[in-house]
Amino acid sequence: MRKRISKPHDLDGLVPSFKGRVLLLISALERRGFEPVVVQGRRTVQQAKANTAKGTGIVQSMHRWGCAADFADRETRWDDPKFFVALGEEALKLGLWWGGEWRKPDRPHVQGCPATARAQNAIRLLKEDDVPAIDRLVSGHLFVK
Ligand SMILES: [Zn+2]
Repeated sequence: MRKRISKPHDLDGLVPSFKGRVLLLISALERRGFEPVVVQGRRTVQQAKANTAKGTGIVQSMHRWGCAADFADRETRWDDPKFFVALGEEALKLGLWWGGEWRKPDRPHVQGCPATARAQNAIRLLKEDDVPAIDRLVSGHLFVK
């Protein structure tokens, strides 16, 4: 029998405007009867490199800038397609971008900017600890759907 995910949400280090929408996303999924958990928020460059070596991420991941989060359901973990469909629907309603729509789908992943080179490179030019500058970029004023 699979084990329930009991760890707390990993929200430390998410930039404020993204974190606010992640909290709304958690509530929206709970209202739909799911038990969402943010299994990973911010990643250090070392974690990003380790994930790249395992083939589960990229070095220049938006997680490093605190504007991406990976979700699972506490009970069904990564096994329930309905959870990820709901995650995508609710993320889009909140003006977030969902990895499930990508050419190489990453269903647990939600981020605060489009997955375009233009948008992500604008963030990658910023220092990872320049929270106000990152927050301005992902607060929705510059990236419009
Ligand atoms: Zn991710």
